[in-house]
Amino acid sequence: MKPYTCPICGGKLNIRIGADQAECDSCGRFQALDAADVARYREIFIGAERAMRQNTAAGYEDAIRQLQAIAFIDEARDKIKECEQRLNELRADRLHRQEANRLSDRRNTRLGIVLLILTLLLCAAALAGIVYLVVRFVQGTLSKGAMITILAVALAAIVVSVLGKLFAGRGSDSK
Ligand SMILES: [Zn+2]
Repeated sequence: MKPYTCPICGGKLNIRIGADQAECDSCGRFQALDAADVARYREIFIGAERAMRQNTAAGYEDAIRQLQAIAFIDEARDKIKECEQRLNELRADRLHRQEANRLSDRRNTRLGIVLLILTLLLCAAALAGIVYLVVRFVQGTLSKGAMITILAVALAAIVVSVLGKLFAGRGSDSK
């Protein structure tokens, strides 16, 4: 598709989408356009607008490709700029989201490790407590206070390990 030039001075014609004549940039004379070309420009422009409405990177790239065929029209050039700007925004958005995901993954992993260590420590304490209980029971010197403390530790170990499992489950769901 070739751009029109003014038949009188050779200047650039300012074509507008949908208009059947165009004004010369240099001498200001109006020049009639071919009806088939007018229809074709309009068709390309509307097709590009439709692609833009998808509001996706692929849609904007498609729109730019279509508009480049009529880039000698100011409105098409403006639309290309608009598409490029939206593409940049989409890319920036995506980078931003990836960065946020990475940070939250790292946070999840750290929290998971802390819970795991806490679970292991409590399990070890509970195990030591049970051994202590058995020894004291066998010796017949089991005090009520010691038993309550040890049972509380064992309970805490169970609670933390359940929390850890819940947390790990949620972490894998969100991916
Ligand atoms: Zn002219």
